[in-house]
Amino acid sequence: MPESVCKWYLICPIKYYTDKGLLDSTWVNNYCLVANSKCVRYQMENNGQIHPDNMLPDGSIDKTLKV
Ligand code: SF4
Repeated sequence: MPESVCKWYLICPIKYYTDKGLLDSTWVNNYCLVANSKCVRYQMENNGQIHPDNMLPDGSIDKTLKV
């Protein structure tokens, strides 16, 4: 996988939701595929902080997504 891709991409729920067509690919393009360290999920993962699957990279919760 290219270095520009987030190290958690393959196991991240955001990829799963996007692949299933449940989430706009803008999220993946703006965060995951460019390893955007501003991703709140990324930061919380780095800090060992628990976060729900339906939390988007900007830290907001999308209640339409099942956890
Ligand atoms: S949502 Fe965040 S943690 Fe998940 S793959 Fe994308 S950039 Fe990485």
